[in-house]
Amino acid sequence: MSEPVSIDTFMEGVKKRNPGETEFHQAVFEVASTIFPYIADKPIYHKWEIMRRIAEPDRIVSFRVCWQDDAGHIRVNRGYRIQNNNAIGPYKGGIRFHPSVNQSILKFLAFEQTFKNSLTGLPMGGGKGGSDFNPKGKSDAEVMRFCQSFMTELFRHIGDDIDVPAGDIGVGGREIGYMFGQWKRLTNRFNGVLTGKGLEYGGSLIRPEATGYGCVYFLENMLKHDLKAEIEGKTALVSGSGNVATFAAQKINHRGGKVLTLSDSDGFIYDPKGIDLKKIDWVIDLKTKRRGRIAEYVKEFGGEFHAGKKPWGLKADVALPCATQNEIGIEDAKVMIKNGVKAVSEGANMPTSQDATHAFLEANVLFGPAKAANAGGVSVSGLEMSQNAAHITWKEGELQKMLRDIMDGIHGKCAQYGQVKGKKYVDYVQGANVAGFVKVADAMLAFGVV
Ligand code: NDP
Repeated sequence: MSEPVSIDTFMEGVKKRNPGETEFHQAVFEVASTIFPYIADKPIYHKWEIMRRIAEPDRIVSFRVCWQDDAGHIRVNRGYRIQNNNAIGPYKGGIRFHPSVNQSILKFLAFEQTFKNSLTGLPMGGGKGGSDFNPKGKSDAEVMRFCQSFMTELFRHIGDDIDVPAGDIGVGGREIGYMFGQWKRLTNRFNGVLTGKGLEYGGSLIRPEATGYGCVYFLENMLKHDLKAEIEGKTALVSGSGNVATFAAQKINHRGGKVLTLSDSDGFIYDPKGIDLKKIDWVIDLKTKRRGRIAEYVKEFGGEFHAGKKPWGLKADVALPCATQNEIGIEDAKVMIKNGVKAVSEGANMPTSQDATHAFLEANVLFGPAKAANAGGVSVSGLEMSQNAAHITWKEGELQKMLRDIMDGIHGKCAQYGQVKGKKYVDYVQGANVAGFVKVADAMLAFGVV
């Protein structure tokens, strides 16, 4: 059995075993830097090497995805599925289609997902998958052929009690439909092997809204718990204009807040009058049906478009980064702190760099880390799995209440484990990491060395 090692020695090992995988190193270090102090007086976790085992995926599958474009050319992409840990339930996590996808990014996401899924209280392990395929600019027929080819390999590694993928960046209802169709054809089975499905074929109500709404519920809970404040009357910077961003913006409006910005990889729009519910519906239509760019907003509603820029330089009360990883760096954080931001709630996965996160915590800015703040999506995915397994359909009101309860529960667990002596507010980063870790670690202890 092992003696306790320092975090530096631990990280040296992680870097040596995973050369060049900087996003993965970043995610493991972020978690380890709160777990190591917590387990310092709990030798059992050291003895059984729990952190080393969680930071080594159970399985990495990498495969060739061949497909033919509309011009008849043969295209070759790379597909992945990372099955990180199934100690508390079947692997669960989204599929991302984006040219930036690589093994490091998917390993970081699968690792994070393990803690996030644990926090929800539902029986789900952690996984993630995807491809460097870029759906942008592709015809529907090309996307369909790609998805079918991707599933033709993936199907042998997944199952409703093995691994249940969902959507993520570049994978929405259209892609899930094509992949589920191919799964059904290959296996002759109809079950809950994917979540985020259409309502006609086993999907759950409120799944599209769940991540964005949950992110705002977490923000609301932080404001209430630590500042005795409300969202009403507050201004908000939101980045992204996809699934998470648009529904987060919608819920901010429901709560009486004012959304000032949205963005995509071309730049951000600033609407000083506020991006209200009608404008958000237009953006949802633009992005999901017309597959347009956020710059078009200005032609329709006015405001400003800032090409190639991020929204963090503007003054606002709260910020919800909902686009992608590492979109708030240390310089952005410094400006936001100077501008008096009160809270940051992460809709995207790891959108804040580690030094920026520390700067927020040091400056007493409430900080809701992704694994807690954006867990609403996977929670409703878990509820979709339950409905599929029981062959039932819950009503919208029931699901809304369950989502709210789960997000309140996650906030409660973070507040319980995130009390730090001498700190003015809850450290939600520590709270989320420790609360997520304990359940997975204790299950792993129960299994012995496997
Ligand atoms: P979408 O594909 O629907 O939207 C992504 C948005 O982010 C788009 O506006 C996209 O712009 C923008 N974006 C992507 N990459 C970049 C980049 N490099 N720079 C600037 N903007 C970028 O994805 P989701 O909304 O589903 O996901 C957003 C984030 O939330 C991701 O980190 C995802 O992992 C996370 N998440 C999503 C969940 C869900 O339920 N969907 C659940 C939990 C987390 P463009 O169109 O120009 O690419």
